[in-house]
Amino acid sequence: MANKSKFQAIRGTRDLLPADTALWNRVEQTAREVFGTFGFGEIRPPILEATEVFARAVGGDTDIVSKEMYTFTDEMQGLPDPTDFSISPDHYVDAVEQAIKAGQIQVTDSNLKSLAQLKAQLGLYNSRNDLNSTEEAELKFRLSASHLAFGESISLRPEATASVCRAYIEHNMQQMPQPVKLYYMGPMFRRERPQKGRYRQFYQIGAEILGGPDAPAIDAELIEMLMTFFDKCGLQGTELSINSIGHAGDNCRRGYVAKLKAELEKVKDKLGADSQRRIETNPLRVLDSKLEQEQPIIATLPRIADHLCDECKAHYAAVKHELEQRGVIYRENWRLVRGLDYYMRTTFEITAQGLGSQNAVCGGGRYDGLVELLGGPPTKGIGFAIGEDRLILSLQESGKGAAPQGRDIYIAWMGERAYATAIRAAKDLRNAGFRVELPPTELKFGKALERASKLGSRFALILGDNEVADGQWTLKNLADGSQQKLTEQALLDYLKSL
Ligand code: ATP
Ligand code: MG
Repeated sequence: MANKSKFQAIRGTRDLLPADTALWNRVEQTAREVFGTFGFGEIRPPILEATEVFARAVGGDTDIVSKEMYTFTDEMQGLPDPTDFSISPDHYVDAVEQAIKAGQIQVTDSNLKSLAQLKAQLGLYNSRNDLNSTEEAELKFRLSASHLAFGESISLRPEATASVCRAYIEHNMQQMPQPVKLYYMGPMFRRERPQKGRYRQFYQIGAEILGGPDAPAIDAELIEMLMTFFDKCGLQGTELSINSIGHAGDNCRRGYVAKLKAELEKVKDKLGADSQRRIETNPLRVLDSKLEQEQPIIATLPRIADHLCDECKAHYAAVKHELEQRGVIYRENWRLVRGLDYYMRTTFEITAQGLGSQNAVCGGGRYDGLVELLGGPPTKGIGFAIGEDRLILSLQESGKGAAPQGRDIYIAWMGERAYATAIRAAKDLRNAGFRVELPPTELKFGKALERASKLGSRFALILGDNEVADGQWTLKNLADGSQQKLTEQALLDYLKSL
């Protein structure tokens, strides 16, 4: 490709163009409407957060945090003024130490190393009283430049649940009527291997219910809302899978995991390398495996449903009953797990058609421990995240894409006087809500009609000297070629009546 620009969107990111964004907007509008009817309000958290928020919430040893996150060091804001340094280096270093004590500078390995370096340079500086002014200026400059090494680790969000919980705590939302129901939509970032339905910048639409009780009706209503939304979008072939993963107690999930681990040890030799590793790190995740050879082995493993404590068992049964009352069709999948400790009880996933192996369009579950983990009060929580890119792909595959956006009216004008009228007509028609194209330069009528068709216009409004003089405008229907003459008012009335 000879004339390809040397700049391209970076790997795993893409431009969404008008041919697609019409559908994206429709989907997002549907989400706003449906979620609104269930009493959810929108939250727009920032895309950047302290890395620690995700490290805590998503988990430091998950792939997302350890491998896939876009993380960088941002220069600290609350740092002592580096110009203090040129006045008194000792004072500056003192101030940095104070800022670390006060928590303004994070105590990270890299910041502690920067402080040690700063002190070493200061020692060097103080030990020399024979510096000439150039040497002194240079040493001061080097020292003050090292303040840039202090930083706060921040990350592009790989998901938004952690941000929403952080915001719930930060804004004291536990003071509001509980539960607080929030939804969000926007880009997420994960450094994954790009493929169909998997991008490095992708979009999620999600919702969270925080606070209040953990009544099974809350779980069921959230899932009902989700399925209503997919239905309104016209998503085809949706399948809802649900499971309960109990709670982190010895008489519940912990006991089950111990049993699972013991069983896995017995068949270790027959498992692949990934699963072998997971026996140690996170046995539950072995159940996630898609490896062909492991399937018959996994089928014989103990199932969590048989090991739930009485409360969790009752909660699960009630969630299923509540779903049935709402007419929500589900399938139980005992292998549906979440590998993180604070996830508990209800977990669910929705798959849709036309997506190949990346067919999960939504994942969700209950996470009663998360707000507390982030430093807030004990708070119940449940939520989901929809992969909007995959939702759109599936809709397009099944022919549910939006029609390309054409024009309602193309104004073919010729002559100075007609142009003035055309400008006014364009304004009036646009005010009335029509999509209008007003060519910026004069075109012969033949050429103008050709352009009008190419843009997919329904009508051409023909304005020449005659039309303007008679006050009778020509409206040409481009689908059937028919033409009629109308006064300005009659034309507006006619178009509005369609
Ligand atoms: P998967 O198993 O497909 O990697 P996940 O468990 O990482 O999904 P979640 O973190 O639960 O996914 O995110 C919820 C939804 O977001 C997924 O069901 C999927 O539709 C979507 N999603 C996740 N990662 C990506 C990505 N890299 N590109 C596009 N969509 C994604
Ligand atoms: Mg993933």
